[in-house]
Amino acid sequence: LETKLRHAVSQNQIRVYYQPQVNINTNAVIGFEALARWDHPEYGILPPAKFISIAEDTGMIKAIGDWVLATACKQIMLWEKNGLGRFRLAVNVSARQLSQTDLVSKIETVLQDTQLPASRLCIEVKESAVMKESVATMNILNDLKTLGLCLAIDDFGVGHSSMNQLQKLPVDAITVDRSFVMNIAGRERDGIGAKAIIGLAKNLGLHVTAEGVETTTQVEFLRRYQCEEAQGHYYSPPIPAQQVPQFVASMTDMRRSMSEPL
Ligand code: C2E
Ligand code: MG
Ligand code: MG
Repeated sequence: LETKLRHAVSQNQIRVYYQPQVNINTNAVIGFEALARWDHPEYGILPPAKFISIAEDTGMIKAIGDWVLATACKQIMLWEKNGLGRFRLAVNVSARQLSQTDLVSKIETVLQDTQLPASRLCIEVKESAVMKESVATMNILNDLKTLGLCLAIDDFGVGHSSMNQLQKLPVDAITVDRSFVMNIAGRERDGIGAKAIIGLAKNLGLHVTAEGVETTTQVEFLRRYQCEEAQGHYYSPPIPAQQVPQFVASMTDMRRSMSEPL
């Protein structure tokens, strides 16, 4: 698989899919999360679960990550140029990438080359990658912050880290993991984890995005507990760039019809 993945990278078989992040109250499309896919000649589109861990173990994640970042930044600016909107971009960075000494300068170069304002880039790092609080990790997070971008802890709560640890990190946002959102069903007790995480984030002044939102019940619950943003199949699965304009248009139509008097 390692050889095949190496081949895939050199043969440009890696793709970026985009999953919309939507304001729960207004249905405005705020931004997109870039998610890697492997367009396998035999098996079709493969999700990251099939290749990201191998990419991490072998170090190939660095090349893949660099390419995803550059491609997605360019795409966001292209959408802006074409008048589709000014979107924010979320990009995942793995533990292995965080240990790259030139990560910060690489991101800085991509921002300069693409002209994407740093404030519109959000770097997502998994809780497990940053909660060890090593000096090296803290330094890199602080350096990333000096670029002016947004730093988010992805899938918060899954790694059982504490409020105390979260408070020490120079982060702006967290994402609520799908496992907590999935537990939001009909009964009030169901969403207790999601409610606790949203409350924690609010108390620390952090921005919150709920992931894996699939049902109206979940949307209503998140709205009630003042989580402003969501992403999930309720709005859209991750889609190729070509499908984004149509998605944005459909959301605009929906907002227009909601604001029209009956
Ligand atoms: P993540 O960053 O937490 O991304 C969210 C995942 O939740 C995505 O899975 C997305 O497709 C899935 N998701 C979102 N809404 C729903 C929903 O309503 N229902 C269901 N069933 N799933 C939903 P995906 O694309 O398979 O990515 C999995 C993970 O792979 C990502 O989790 C991220 O940690 C990693 N990953 C993806 N692309 C990259 C990349 O370019 N670099 C690195 N380092 N990691 C990546
Ligand atoms: Mg993510
Ligand atoms: Mg996540």
